[in-house]
Amino acid sequence: MSPDLAAARILLVEDEPSLVLTLSDRLLSEGYQVETAGDGERGLEMAIGGSFDLVLLDVMLPRKNGFDVCRDLRQRGLQMPILMLTAKGQVVDKVVGLKLGADDYLTKPFDMMELMARIESLLRRARTPIAPAAGNYAFGEITVDFRRVEVVRDGVPLDLSALEFKLLGHFIENRGEVLTRDRLLDEVWGYDSTPTTRTVDVHVASLRQKLEVKPAKPQFILTVHGRGYKFVG
Ligand code: CA
Repeated sequence: MSPDLAAARILLVEDEPSLVLTLSDRLLSEGYQVETAGDGERGLEMAIGGSFDLVLLDVMLPRKNGFDVCRDLRQRGLQMPILMLTAKGQVVDKVVGLKLGADDYLTKPFDMMELMARIESLLRRARTPIAPAAGNYAFGEITVDFRRVEVVRDGVPLDLSALEFKLLGHFIENRGEVLTRDRLLDEVWGYDSTPTTRTVDVHVASLRQKLEVKPAKPQFILTVHGRGYKFVG
């Protein structure tokens, strides 16, 4: 796994104990965080509450099958990639699964290398820049709703100015990238205004006050000394 995907959280919903064991061992050894659910209802519950980056979802599950879990997750607006695991010969599964909102599927028994490659590619795709119109983006305990122009922490709305919201949206769109102050001025403030790079620092500081648990030790909007800022989250 490449470092930028490190610490991605994966939910494995699978009822075959031996496969759960093999798969979680392998995922952990690749550096992912893994949680498991042994039936569909539990899987759905965990996926809704757990801010996972990806769900590995078996089709044949006790209590609620994988198709229903997948459909329910999408109906609730959850966007994380879902990779479905189907039993051999269930050709129809692929079509049904993709229709219900799965991003990819693999037929059992699968090659472990193949599964790891698919997971990596789904995570990478999910992390490419999102259009701010795409809906919600969550990091830490914060959710940004681009359509309603709202930022909430743990359900409590945060009071961001329009400019702070725009700046945050820009950080999220370019997450993982170092953004220089000049670039931020161009892309967030625009060419018409003539603020100084100090303006950027002031607004970043104010965003940190509102978003970071410890503004002095930010975990989302990082300073890259001598270069600018980088959003990770
Ligand atoms: Ca099964």
